[in-house]
Formats: sequence, structure tokens, C-alpha cells
Amino acid sequence: MSNPVIFWFRRDLRLADNPALVAAAHAGTVVALFVVDPELVAPVGATRAAYVAASLTALDEAMGGALVIRVGDPTTVVPEVARELGAQCVYASGDSTPRARHRDRAVAAALAGEGRVLTTIDSPYVVEPGTIRQASGAPYRVYSAFRRVWETRLGVAPVAAPEVEWESIPGVTPTAVVELAARRRPHYFADLPDSPAPESPPAGERAGHAALERFAAHVDHYEDQRDRPDLDATSRLSPYLHVGALHPRTVLAALDGPSRGRSTFRAEIGWREFYADVLSHRPDSAWRSLQPRFDALRVDRGEAAVARFGAWARGETGFPLVDAGMRQLLAEGWMHNRVRMVTASFLVKHLHVDWRWGASWFLWRLVDGDVASNQHGWQWTAGSGTDAAPFHRIFSPTRQAERFDPIGRYVRRYVPELASVAESDLTRADVETLVASGYRAPMIDAGVERREALARFAEIRATVAP
Ligand SMILES: Cc1cc2nc3c(=O)[nH]c(=O)nc-3n(C[C@H](O)[C@H](O)[C@H](O)COP(=O)(O)OP(=O)(O)OC[C@H]3O[C@@H](n4cnc5c(N)ncnc54)[C@H](O)[C@@H]3O)c2cc1C
Repeated sequence: MSNPVIFWFRRDLRLADNPALVAAAHAGTVVALFVVDPELVAPVGATRAAYVAASLTALDEAMGGALVIRVGDPTTVVPEVARELGAQCVYASGDSTPRARHRDRAVAAALAGEGRVLTTIDSPYVVEPGTIRQASGAPYRVYSAFRRVWETRLGVAPVAAPEVEWESIPGVTPTAVVELAARRRPHYFADLPDSPAPESPPAGERAGHAALERFAAHVDHYEDQRDRPDLDATSRLSPYLHVGALHPRTVLAALDGPSRGRSTFRAEIGWREFYADVLSHRPDSAWRSLQPRFDALRVDRGEAAVARFGAWARGETGFPLVDAGMRQLLAEGWMHNRVRMVTASFLVKHLHVDWRWGASWFLWRLVDGDVASNQHGWQWTAGSGTDAAPFHRIFSPTRQAERFDPIGRYVRRYVPELASVAESDLTRADVETLVASGYRAPMIDAGVERREALARFAEIRATVAP
């Protein structure tokens, strides 16, 4: 093998628009490496693990079977493979999550100890997290201000897939991800099912481009329809963006233009970049409330809370929109954004469960499960995050259904028990109608629990920053 270099794939499982891969291809013969870190996959459920494995299979096929998968701590495995090949240089796309930064520093140090170099280029974002600052040098805390600066830095053209001379060495198959996953279940998951979602989206770069092409035909309606789960009008690009089968640069270039739909879509990609930025300078926000005084909010934790959490996660609350959302998550490993907000709000504000429990279940199950977007999405809903919805604005699961699933089409799709209920009754979740139809009675009185949530909030209100 002449002059081999290693390309270490992480959150960039694609060949096109991958500047770090272009650099590796210029440097010599490339050995493509993916390291399955048992620590990283332990808190990942079967569905997300299967999706990562399918993404790896697609990548391997795209490079003619050259992908080398090894298992272990990257700090050991990457230098080992470099030694095995006599490779001086390891290339990778940058990754700025707190965990990734720590890992990359350790791998770079281990390689440097043997005279080898880790070079990271680019990031999974259009603008590298942590690089947009106010004039004072402080990071932005408010999305709209961040977005104004972020938008001035768009417009970078995607790069084409390079011609690569691949070389391969023995490794394991992508199923290693699934075999090592799901070993760290929190106690509150109790006996929740963990079979892979039967209808999770197709994986890989080609499937990502097909989804992008499909959405490009509808993007001009995005502004008007994105909040309607029954219309399925969003891009469904989140899984591809998460594993890096698509780079957001590619997506924005394909959907460029002045229409309101396109502009709103750009703003949503902007939220993804904002949350990654917040996480880069507040790594603790992954598991702690950004407004620390929210940590004093009383939440339920005992056996009854575990049972309520289980009913929520199974989609058995008796509130049709909540149940439909949670069952979409079980069936597809994905959920519509509006319904993520409604289900998260229900858990936190009607069932009084800690947002971290819900965030763990989403991360376990979602094929796009992403620490920055998920944890901050939960904190937004719980009221404790940046730009958060004020705590006292509590989503009514029945009114949300009336507004955003007006003829109950979404609910019927995921909760077949409701197929016989009249459309007008369905969205109102009229208790007698639901029970008469054979569906379960709502597990709580939403009005009573709403008042309970507000009473608990009042206890900390005086100490909560405005
Ligand atoms: C409680 C909660 C948990 C969430 N967890 C995740 C998660 O783990 N991973 C994830 O990618 N998104 C998460 N989101 C954000 C959002 O719900 C999803 O990105 C979106 O539903 C994905 O569907 P889509 O690709 O069709 O989105 P589109 O509406 O087509 O949006 C395009 C892209 O913009 C980004 N985006 C859109 N909305 C948001 C948002 N509110 N925050 C951050 N990025 C956004 C995503 O990358 C998305 O793919 C969460 C939101 C909430 C309220």
C-alpha cells in the first residue's frame, strides 16, 4: 500500500460535500475507518443503532466495500490502525460536541506520541459551532440575534465527491453497532419495549439525496404547512443530517431562494446550528437546565412517576395526539416537530416528570437523536432553555389537535383504535366518546394537572430569571 492515510468517519457518513475526505484523497491511498465506541452506543436504543448500522452499510456499498469497522475506544483503536498501516496522517471532519472534543484531543495526543497527526477539517454545520460571537466576544443567547449573523455566513458552495483510491484491511460488520447498543437503560425505562422500529426511514447518502429532491418540490409550501403533522409537509431530512449522510451546506444550496417557505426552512436549519453553538459553550446544558433555578422545580420520581412515564412512552395516555406521536416514535423512530413539542410538554407539564427522562427516551429511540437539538428542544418546551416558551404557556393536547390535526387524519394513522370515532369528536378527545369507541379514558384530568404545574412553577417563580 503506497503512502496510506486514514480517513476516520464519524458524523459525516457520506462521500459528497466532505472537504476532509477531499484532503485525505489528495494525500494518498485512503483507508476508511469507522470506530464503534461501546461507551457511545451503550445509551442508544435498538432503532437508532439499527439506523446507524444501515447508514454504515450504505456508505460501505458506495465505496465498493472498502469501509473498515473496528470496535473499541478510539483513543486506542485509531493509533493501533495507524501503526498497523504505517500511516502518518489521520483525517476527519471536525465534531464539536463536548464528548467529541474530549475524544479528539485524546486521540490527537496518542497519535502525536508516535509522531502521527490528526487533522480535522469542517464540521457537521454550515458555520462551525462556537465561532459566531457578539462584538464583546460573548456567545449569543437569543436565537434571532444569532441568526442575523449566521445568515451572513451562508452561501459556501458544496464540494463534489473526490476520486479516492481506497484500500482496505480486515474489520467487523456494521451489526457491531446493534450488538453493542442498548446496554445502559435508565431504571425509569422499566419494561418498555425496544424492538427496532418497523418503518424507520431508508438510510444512506443516496436516500438522503432522494429525500432532498422530494422535498425541493414542496419547499414553497413549507411555511404554511410545516405545523400540520397530518400533511407530512416537512423535509424529513433530520436523520440524514444527524449521521451526516447529507451536509446542511448541500441542503441549503439545493433549497436556496427567496420564497417564504425557503426562508423559513433556512431558519429551521439555523435552530440546529444555534443549539450546537449553545452546546459548544455550555456543555453542561446537555443534562442541566440552562436556567439553573429550574433545577428547583418539583418533579415526581417515584414508582407512580415511572408508571406514568411508561404510559406516555407507549402511547397509552388517552390523549389522541400525544398517543399518536409516541406511537409514531415507536413505529418510525421519528416524530413530527409539532407533536414533539406537544408530547414533551405533556410529560413535563401534565405528568410532572423531569424533562431529562423524556429527553433520554427520545435520544434512545429517535433515528435523528441528537444531543444538541434534542436536549435544547426539551429545555425549550420545559421552559428552562434559551429562548424558551414561558412556563405558564402550557399546550393543551386537545386544542393542539384541533388546530394542527383538524380532521384527525394523523391521529387515525397511528392510533387505529380511533378509526371508528367521528372526526369532530376525535380532536376534542371527548372522554365518553373515546371510551365508548373502545379507546382508553384519559389518564389524567388535564385541567387539574395544568393547575398543579402552575402551582409548582409559582414556588420557584420568584427565583426564576425573567
Ligand atoms: C422535544 C424536542 C426534541 C427534539 N429532538 C430532536 C433531535 O433529537 N434531533 C433533531 O434533529 N431534531 C430534534 N428536534 C427538532 C425538530 O423536531 C426536528 O429537527 C424535526 O422535527 C425533524 O424533522 P424534519 O427533518 O422534517 O424537519 P424540517 O421541518 O424539515 O426542518 C429541517 C431541518 O431543520 C432542523 N430543525 C428543524 N426544527 C428544529 C428545531 N426545533 N431544533 C433544531 N433543529 C431543527 C433539522 O435538522 C431538520 O431536519 C426536537 C424538537 C423538540 C421539540
